[in-house]
Amino acid sequence: MARVTVFTLGGTISARGGDAARMSGAEVLAELGVDTAGPSGTTEVELRDFRRVPSSSLTFEDLTALADEVARTVAAGSGVVVVQGTDTLEETAFLLDLVCTTEQPVVVTGAMRRPDLPGADGPANLAAALAVAADPGCRELGVLVVLADEIHAARFAHKAHTTSVATFASPGAGPLGVVVEGEPRLLLRPAVASRLCPLRFDPDVRVALLTLSLGDRGDLLELVTERPERYDGLVVAAFGAGHVPAWFVEPLAALTERMPVVLASRTGAGATLSHTYRSPGSEYDLLHRGLIPAGPLAPAKARLLLHALLSSGAKGPAGYDRPRISAAFAHLDGAGLA
Ligand code: GLU
Repeated sequence: MARVTVFTLGGTISARGGDAARMSGAEVLAELGVDTAGPSGTTEVELRDFRRVPSSSLTFEDLTALADEVARTVAAGSGVVVVQGTDTLEETAFLLDLVCTTEQPVVVTGAMRRPDLPGADGPANLAAALAVAADPGCRELGVLVVLADEIHAARFAHKAHTTSVATFASPGAGPLGVVVEGEPRLLLRPAVASRLCPLRFDPDVRVALLTLSLGDRGDLLELVTERPERYDGLVVAAFGAGHVPAWFVEPLAALTERMPVVLASRTGAGATLSHTYRSPGSEYDLLHRGLIPAGPLAPAKARLLLHALLSSGAKGPAGYDRPRISAAFAHLDGAGLA
């Protein structure tokens, strides 16, 4: 019999009456009729009532504790389902993807509609997630996100709508598979694993994320450049394929002497470019001034990867390990695999 351990963290799936911390993990599972045996009776389900919070209040301390427990659970031969709010679900999934092996399937799910509202999607999402986590065919795919009967890779999964039950998409890639009649069907496999090597995640590392918008005079950037000791790294969510105003170039270039500065795109899909545009503030200019391209990683995920690398020896008294950080981002961009 397959074994699946369910970690409940709160979120909409447990938000009866609107309070994301209201229901216990056992009550969430009971909505699906799960007690000690799964819906089909072929899966042994163990519950870990881990946190009860709206997902916007999850901390890096919560997630590092979760990652440790998920790693132990997988090593003990059990599949894993993490149930949390959808607001930050993609970040939890990607953090786990960076630090946990998936010798057993690891799935993150949640709900868009409260359990007390018509059409609540929590039970269906949980059932699909359990089916994926119990299926040996879903091992070694990296961490998965399962909602609305779609199976997404953590590195691509993105909450793309505020209310739709089909909110999760994999922009620029597409889902790895679907769940049909309660069974996972795999369509694709990621070309490479996100987890390059044993990475750690130290909650004390500080990586800033700066999202650009038209007319930015650099006030927020100044908060980083004037007090670089506050941060270990910076991710810039730049315009288009990796562009910033010309007046950002000098401060960003100077900052690369102190900390890694990663260039991501705020567009939501597609990779950063390297040599299509050459004007001041273009991707070519910035990469030649020391910025590191995020490739296809969305800004919040680029921040997590940089954070994990800085937690795992990519920073020391002599500065940061630029080649190692660049190689880690390049690993996920698919170049050279074709
Ligand atoms: N979707 C939210 C979450 O991610 C709802 C909870 C809330 O903000 O109270 O947990």
